Amino acid sequence: MPVKFATKAIRAGQDPDPGYCPAVQPIYQASTYVQSGFNEHKGFDYSRTGNPNRASLETCLASLEGAKYGVAFGSGLAAVDGVASLAKPGDHILGIEGLYGGTYRLFDQVLPRRGVEVSFAPSDPESFAKHLRANTVGVWLESPTNPLLNLVDLKAMVALVRDRAPQAWMCVDNTFATPYLQQPLELGVDISLHSTTKYVGGHSDVVGGAVLTSRDDLHEWIRFYQNAVGAVPGPFDCWLALRGLRTLAVRMEAHVQRAQAIARFLESHPSVERVHYPGLESHPHHALAQRQMRGPGGIISFSVKGGLEKARAVATSTKVFLLAESLGAVESLICHPFSMTHHAVPADVKLATGIGEGLLRLSIGLEDPDDLVADLDQALGA
Ligand code: PLP
Repeated sequence: MPVKFATKAIRAGQDPDPGYCPAVQPIYQASTYVQSGFNEHKGFDYSRTGNPNRASLETCLASLEGAKYGVAFGSGLAAVDGVASLAKPGDHILGIEGLYGGTYRLFDQVLPRRGVEVSFAPSDPESFAKHLRANTVGVWLESPTNPLLNLVDLKAMVALVRDRAPQAWMCVDNTFATPYLQQPLELGVDISLHSTTKYVGGHSDVVGGAVLTSRDDLHEWIRFYQNAVGAVPGPFDCWLALRGLRTLAVRMEAHVQRAQAIARFLESHPSVERVHYPGLESHPHHALAQRQMRGPGGIISFSVKGGLEKARAVATSTKVFLLAESLGAVESLICHPFSMTHHAVPADVKLATGIGEGLLRLSIGLEDPDDLVADLDQALGA
């Protein structure tokens, strides 16, 4: 029977193991599987190539985004690399400006060594489409972006790219939105990508990544690359990511509810210069967020009056928010994108895309919302 998101998250790919029938899948902490004859086995022979925990995670994630295939990697960046490996020497990938710093570093410093050219263009579809080339084989989008929470109009982008560069696959980094808040494949893109380190895992205790697609040709290569290069997550990592995924729906509802209240609080605070949150009417993509997403997410960025020194004072004065990289977990985190997550991006590129020294990023966790507001209030007064 067709079931809805929260049910899929708890059941898809998770039929009880036929052995002792535990209600929750055991961790298959094994590197190899016994064969009854040459290549005769029950679906798994060697854990780099595949294992039951990874298969469950891949099936569940794919089902949540209506994808035919899920391919899990050892980190979000390994997943980015897996998709980027579709490009061959002489090919071009066009990405939007303002991507996550690690993705930018891979595109800027690693892909050129393989003869793949990457360039960046503004994320509004008309301007972006002008930068497509005859040798553009892939389009790289992130929506919302890290850390400025800019949105790409995915439907409009799909229409333009299909028209002007029909040969190009389109990938969206869906990490910030999560499968719960945004369904990129439904909007027409070919590949949705996640750092499962973030909301999917949800508890700051695992690093991982995943690629979701319904295209047989793209899946065939990415699956081959996963095994050929071997940047795979271990069974326990997959088990943790899937354990997190099972509660994604309720966690995202709570993250969004808290983030919305905190964004409003920040917007009215005298020490705050500007708040970036798609749930605020002041956000340039507020209407698009309402159209394209089920909710505006749990991440907020804001710039403080007083630049770097004030930002440092705030980020080192919070008591509930922990000063740390990463996002998407039950504990609230604060970070300074300029020097932390986007450290690998040249200063002029950061400043041109709006990542200034006074900018702070919050990952709103699941603590009591009153405590989160009180903590930010006291830190902003520091
Ligand atoms: N994509 C986005 C949007 C991210 O924020 C991150 C990490 O912060 C990544 C990809 C990379 O993921 P990982 O750290 O799991 O390699």
